[in-house]
Amino acid sequence: MSFVLGVLIGLAAGVVSYLLFVSTSRDLPNISTAVPSSEVETREAENNGYLAQIQDAINSLSVGVVIVDAKGVEIFRNKLAESVTGVIHSDVLVEEVVEQHLSAALNGETKRQVLDLFGPPRKVFSVSATPLLIGGAVGMIEDTTERYLVDAVRTDFVANISHELKTPVGALAVLADALSQEDDLDIVHRLSEKMVEEALRVGRTIDDLLELSRIEFGGEAVKDEVDAEAIISESISRVSPLASTHSIKVAMIELPQPLKVVGDRRQLVSAIGNLVENAVKYSEAGSAIEVSAQDAGEWVEFTVKDFGLGIPSRDLDRVFERFYRVDRARSRDTGGTGLGLAIVRHVANNHGGEVSVTSIEGEGSTFALKIPKFIVQNQSVMKESA
Ligand code: ADP
Repeated sequence: MSFVLGVLIGLAAGVVSYLLFVSTSRDLPNISTAVPSSEVETREAENNGYLAQIQDAINSLSVGVVIVDAKGVEIFRNKLAESVTGVIHSDVLVEEVVEQHLSAALNGETKRQVLDLFGPPRKVFSVSATPLLIGGAVGMIEDTTERYLVDAVRTDFVANISHELKTPVGALAVLADALSQEDDLDIVHRLSEKMVEEALRVGRTIDDLLELSRIEFGGEAVKDEVDAEAIISESISRVSPLASTHSIKVAMIELPQPLKVVGDRRQLVSAIGNLVENAVKYSEAGSAIEVSAQDAGEWVEFTVKDFGLGIPSRDLDRVFERFYRVDRARSRDTGGTGLGLAIVRHVANNHGGEVSVTSIEGEGSTFALKIPKFIVQNQSVMKESA
């Protein structure tokens, strides 16, 4: 039994025993003849205070609580249990399950059920009921939507990783098998080239996964003062070997003024580097790419503009998801891992910023990454007094 459940049952038992005490003591004749009336009043006041405290505690829980007596009559319901979903129809469904479980609990059974309400919005509840030792039962309704969604994302992620790694590893096995039976030197050459390609793909996926997890679970955010121009130069030089093989010219548009951001230099270079790399991968040979940064109030907005293949509007919302590709074949040809934009989104989130994209299919795309601007405090003071 979890600690919270234990506490809850304890509190519920407190409420039940108090309510039972009140109802039976009202029936007791001549109680006031044995105890002076002033003492009875003091005790009643104390008990009322005690009950109010228990009720307050149960009301503050993030779990809906319903208590029934041994006859199944409801004697307490905390605020959350009054409307758990906020949608009348869904509330009725939850209530039905609570009632069924409470009846079972009155017969000594402890029951728990996960209720998946498709909504919208989709909601997942854990509904349970437990008999109380002193008679009656307590029903509990817990909103587990967030936990459920996190689990679903994790399960999807693991399934995706397995698939992403299984495909090239499977290809390697087939290629190695073919190679072992081949005498023709030309074919041996081609097969081994393919093997190197597949091995590099596994390596890139693992590198990107490590980068993603470093950015996701990297601990305290670094808040250095970083020069925007230096981030762009470093990102471009990281991608320049790839760009020159495709005869693509990557240019930094001169910044109107020196701009500084607050953040983690390594992460920022990784994010802009990924955007520039994509711009190169999804552009035709001979095309151009422009990288710049503008002052946008509290932000510095980095932009990476290409004149390449573009992204269909139906895919624009999804390209930042891990392993999402607009066109699998195209991404495979370019050696994509499907993780680049997920890394960029994480970097944006870690910096309290955001990343967005505008694109026209066949004309090109512009990715914009907003990062908090580094503001020199004394300068603004100097400007005001000047
Ligand atoms: P990948 O490793 O496949 O490039 P990303 O996460 O970096 O993965 O990008 C996700 C998908 O978004 C890519 O597969 C591609 O289809 C699309 N995409 C990203 N950047 C661009 C771009 N500049 N132009 C066209 N499509 C792009």
